[in-house]
Amino acid sequence: MTATILDGKALAQKIRNEIKEKVKQLDPKPGLGVILVGENPASQVYVRGKEKACQEAGFISKKIAPDKDISQAGLMKIVDELNQDNEIHGFIVQLPLPKHLDAQFIIDSILPSKDADGFSPVSLGNMLINNNKILPATPKGIMRLLEEYKINLEGMHAVVIGRSNIVGKPISLLLQQKNATVTMCHSRTKDLKKITKEADLIVAAVGKAKMITQGMVKKGVIIIDVGMNRDENNKLCGDVDFENVKEIASFITPVPGGVGPLTIAMLLENTLECYALSNK
Ligand code: NAP
Repeated sequence: MTATILDGKALAQKIRNEIKEKVKQLDPKPGLGVILVGENPASQVYVRGKEKACQEAGFISKKIAPDKDISQAGLMKIVDELNQDNEIHGFIVQLPLPKHLDAQFIIDSILPSKDADGFSPVSLGNMLINNNKILPATPKGIMRLLEEYKINLEGMHAVVIGRSNIVGKPISLLLQQKNATVTMCHSRTKDLKKITKEADLIVAAVGKAKMITQGMVKKGVIIIDVGMNRDENNKLCGDVDFENVKEIASFITPVPGGVGPLTIAMLLENTLECYALSNK
């Protein structure tokens, strides 16, 4: 048995094409702002990808890139300006921020109607009470991928590894909303293998190269690999040992080409949702 590959790249391209067609009809054009503090190389790559996607979709894209030493007050001023900028319908603050800045305070200051990343307490709180508004892009992309492949989650035992505010916690809520029974695991979980062995579906969002091995999963498992790591040859890889696990899984996302491309597509979709809110 070899797993069906959940092709996030193809789905993301389809969604981006649909968005581009929609945007052609819109005037003014939707605008996405990105605040990138400092020169973190990974963040620069992510932001370039987001800017490129915006331009392709016909969005207005505005990047504000203050120096890494910017003060909390200085950054708050930029957030306030974007909150009031009528050309910018949604915006994000690229994480991580330099240590001297209070990232949560900054995110809390983004107007919920402009929170394109869906990271604000209002967006996350709405999800908690099944009142989904703007969803965090990565979990939203995962749900879209499962839907595309007509995977019915009802009654499944889903195991989520990782409990970050941007992936682990929100995906556990979205899976529950679709009637999966969810187990959350993290660095203090005892006997992870015992739990993963029982999973019908695993979402790995840890950040440890190939930590989920074939011996940790059961035959027919569905694997969603969120991790973005470098292997011993400096090649991009996920949290799952793809080559071996795909031999016994029923569905699996590759890295790259799985969850990652959908994150950007969902950010564009979220910006369109912010745009719609601005016209209400
Ligand atoms: P994170 O904030 O880096 O946290 C990692 C999580 O993994 C924590 O909850 C931690 O537990 C848990 N963990 C660490 N070691 C573990 C172990 N040995 N066993 C079980 N759990 C363990 O998480 P994140 O920001 O969600 O990122 C996770 C990965 O996804 C990273 O590789 C990141 O680059 C990638 N990512 C990809 C995308 C995409 O679009 N593809 C988007 C976001 C993130 P504790 O809470 O106990 O510390």
